[in-house]
Amino acid sequence: MGTVSGTGLSTLVLDRTGDRRLAEDVRVVAQVLPFKVNSYVTEELIDWSRGSDDPIFRLVFPHRDMLPRDDFESIRQALENGSRDEVAGIVGTIRERLNPHPSDQLTRNIPQTTDFDPWGLQHKYRETLLIFPRHGQTCHSYCGYCFRWAQFVQQPELRQETSGAAAMTRYLQDHPEITDVLLTGGDPLVMRTALLERYLRPFLDGVLPHVTTIRLGTKALSFWPYRFLDGPEADTLLELLARLVRDGRHVALMLHVSHPRELETDAARQAIRRLYDTGAVLRSQAPLVRHVNDDASTWSRMWSAQVRLGIVPYYLFVERDTGASRYFGVPLVRGWQIYRDAIAGLSGLGRTARGPVMSAAPGKVVVDGPVELDRRPAFALRFLQARRPELVGRPFFAAFDPHVQWWDELKPYGPSDRPFFAE
Ligand SMILES: *Cc1c(COP(=O)(O)O)cnc(C)c1O
Ligand code: SF4
Repeated sequence: MGTVSGTGLSTLVLDRTGDRRLAEDVRVVAQVLPFKVNSYVTEELIDWSRGSDDPIFRLVFPHRDMLPRDDFESIRQALENGSRDEVAGIVGTIRERLNPHPSDQLTRNIPQTTDFDPWGLQHKYRETLLIFPRHGQTCHSYCGYCFRWAQFVQQPELRQETSGAAAMTRYLQDHPEITDVLLTGGDPLVMRTALLERYLRPFLDGVLPHVTTIRLGTKALSFWPYRFLDGPEADTLLELLARLVRDGRHVALMLHVSHPRELETDAARQAIRRLYDTGAVLRSQAPLVRHVNDDASTWSRMWSAQVRLGIVPYYLFVERDTGASRYFGVPLVRGWQIYRDAIAGLSGLGRTARGPVMSAAPGKVVVDGPVELDRRPAFALRFLQARRPELVGRPFFAAFDPHVQWWDELKPYGPSDRPFFAE
C-alpha cells in the first residue's frame, strides 16, 4: 500500500488535476492539519474528474477553507519567505487555537489507578471500556474532519495510547460491571493480526467472562478493504473474529462509512461478505460533514445499501468542535432535517441509525428535533448515554437557535431543563 502525506499530497493533486492553485492550497493547509492518503483511496475511491468537488476528495484532502483566511495567508507567506523555524512557530500557534482535546478527553475519563499505566483506557460510561491500543493510533488514510487529529501530529504529549493488553486485562478483572469493550483508535485494524490478537486473546482465555460484547471501531473497510482480503494476515484476523463468536461473544465491527461510494468497490463488497461470514455483527457510523455527506439522499442511499449488504446503521454523529470544524460543521437543525429526510424514505430496517448525536462531555445527546413550546421554539433533546445514568432517556429542551452546531452553545429552555446541563 503506497501512502502519500505532507507536501507529497500537493504533488499528487497537481499531477491528477493539473490545478496549480488547488495544489498550492493543499501544501499550505497540510502544514497544520495531518493528512495522509493511500493508493486505494486515490485510485479506487476518488473520482478525479470531479476535481475538488468530489466528496471523497473532500474527505481526505486539505482544502484552503479549513483554516481561517489570516492563518492560511501567514503560513503561505512564511513558506515563501520565512525560515523553517518561522513556519513551525506559526503552525504551533494555529494548532493550539484548534481545540486539540475537545470534551477534555485527556483529563476527564482516565481511570484512577496507580499500579499500572492508565493511558489508553477510557472508562466514561459504567458498562463500556474504550481501549486505545498503542499501535492502533493511526489510520490507513486520515479524514480531514478527524477529532483525533491531535494524536496524529507529532507532539508526543498529546498522544493517548495504552501500555498494552496486560493493562486492559487487569483493569477489566477489577471491573466486573464492564460488559462492553470497544477497541478504537485511530484504527485498531492498522495493527498486524498478531498484535491485535494480544488484545483479543484474553476474551478467549475464560478470564473475563463478564465482557459479553467486543466492538472494533474501524475505517479499514473504506480505506483499506484488503485488510480483510489479502493473505494470511486477513485470514487469521477473520478466524480470530469467528472464534470469538463461536465462544459466545457478541463481536461487532463498528464500520466508519462516510459516503455510499465506500461500499461500491469490488474489494469492499468482498470484504463485507467475508466479515459477515465470521458471524460478527456489522454496524455503521459516521459524522455528518459538509462537502462530504451533507444531504439526505446520500444518507438514505448509504443506509439502504447497508441494509442490503448486512450492515446495521447505528449512529449519525454531529461533527465535533475541533480542527477544521468551521469547514466541516453543519448546524444542528440542518443535521436533524437531513437525518429526518433520510430515514423518511427507508423501511424500518434502515431506520436503526440514531441521530444526529453529539458525543459531548456529559454524554451522547440526540437531537430529536425543533419543537414549538408554549412561548418559544426549542430543541427536543435526549441523552442516549450519560455520565449520570439518571439522565438517560428523558426528554429535555434547549432554547432554539438555528446557528448552533454543538452542545456547548446550547442553553436550557427552562428551569426544569437545567439539571441536564449542569456538570
Ligand atoms: C459512544 C461511546 C461509548 C459506547 O456507547 P454506546 O451507547 O454503547 O454505543 C462508550 N464510551 C464512549 C466514551 C463513547 O463515546
Ligand atoms: S478513521 Fe476515524 S480516527 Fe481515523 S482519521 Fe478518520 S475519523 Fe480519524
